[in-house]
Amino acid sequence: METLLIKYSEIGVKGKNRYVFEDMLVKNIKSALKVLDGESEVRKAQGRIYVNYQAEEKEEAISALQKVFGIAWICPVSQYDRLSFDELKEAVLKHVEEEFFRNSPQTGADSEVTTFKVSCRRVDKAFPMTSMEVNEEIGGALLDAFPSLRVDVHEPQIVVSIELRPYDVNIYSKSYEGLCGMPVGSGGKAMLLLSGGIDSPVAGYLMAKRGVSLDAVYFHAPPYTSERAKQKVVDLAKIISRYAGPIRLHVVNFTEIQMKIYEICPHEELTIIMRRYMMKIAEHFAEQEKCLGLVTGESIGQVASQTMQSMLVTNEVCSLPVYRPLCCFDKLDIVSISEKIDAYETSILPYEDCCTIFVAKHPVTKPRLDRIKKSETKLTGVIEELYRKALETVEIIDL
Ligand code: ATP
Ligand code: MG
Repeated sequence: METLLIKYSEIGVKGKNRYVFEDMLVKNIKSALKVLDGESEVRKAQGRIYVNYQAEEKEEAISALQKVFGIAWICPVSQYDRLSFDELKEAVLKHVEEEFFRNSPQTGADSEVTTFKVSCRRVDKAFPMTSMEVNEEIGGALLDAFPSLRVDVHEPQIVVSIELRPYDVNIYSKSYEGLCGMPVGSGGKAMLLLSGGIDSPVAGYLMAKRGVSLDAVYFHAPPYTSERAKQKVVDLAKIISRYAGPIRLHVVNFTEIQMKIYEICPHEELTIIMRRYMMKIAEHFAEQEKCLGLVTGESIGQVASQTMQSMLVTNEVCSLPVYRPLCCFDKLDIVSISEKIDAYETSILPYEDCCTIFVAKHPVTKPRLDRIKKSETKLTGVIEELYRKALETVEIIDL
């Protein structure tokens, strides 16, 4: 088995309850490693997390860990118990040869690496040399063993890190970038309004990055929206769950409510009134699932229903906080995150969305709450039954 050293991001600065975050991270790492065929093991030792995995699954292990929030860096590490200086020197030479000079230690022919520095951290004060001395001695040994190498202390291509700790010695020189953020589950749970578009999956991803676990609600309008459109949302929820962990998706049949609003209310107010009902229903399920807030993919000014005036009016129906992580993002920035998380290709599949089907030609961009409320009074007496039915007929899909 080989070992990866996990360096975590913000958890490191947490005070007394740091262990809560660490435990959460260990749990999430274990569950991410379930994709591996071979055995794996996660260990917490002296404020560090280590992952052991079968050597032949290195790429898979690293790529699984690269989807776990809370990890800053993933470093393949050669790990030993206590070493004497001579043993340490041997171990470092072996490590560097294996990582960078597998074929030809003399010429370095297979290696792009030409400059390095050694960076020793001596936590174990019983080790008989200072960090500086270790840097110099090991640096010299590397120069002797690999003639193609040069020292560059300012901008080295590789940093050979040596950690001398009381119970273990770590040697590592490659670092794979993690996603940073906080471990999912450490920040409570929120209900994501998930459409089939580009924005809401990115909004969910960003909330998860701050440690928030997610459930989701999707409004469809059969037969106006198809089974394919629904499947697309299920697929997007699956993609988000690669990062955010298990998601309970609530699929709400919104057709009758939408039709009734369309029939009774002014068409330019349709989107706003519809969105107020969506928020209300989402909040119902959020409370049922013990969520602490709602999440949408709205971005200020993107469309008529996303002006600040419109958001003020839609927000008014909610008592839970509504998080809009994309509110200050430009579309291009959202698209680039969507691509990065592998959601984009699915998001752009051209299936119909319930919001666009009944959309007015000239929707109000600056709705007034009093007018909207007045229009809504026309729904009194007819909408309650449809609302109740929408809640009752919800389809739950656990991902
Ligand atoms: P997205 O790309 O997320 O679909 P959008 O740019 O299409 O967003 P809107 O259609 O105005 O914007 O929707 C704004 C937000 O409302 C969405 O980001 C999503 O959170 C929520 N939403 C819209 N339609 C639905 C739906 N059918 N089911 C669940 N949530 C929805
Ligand atoms: Mg949309």
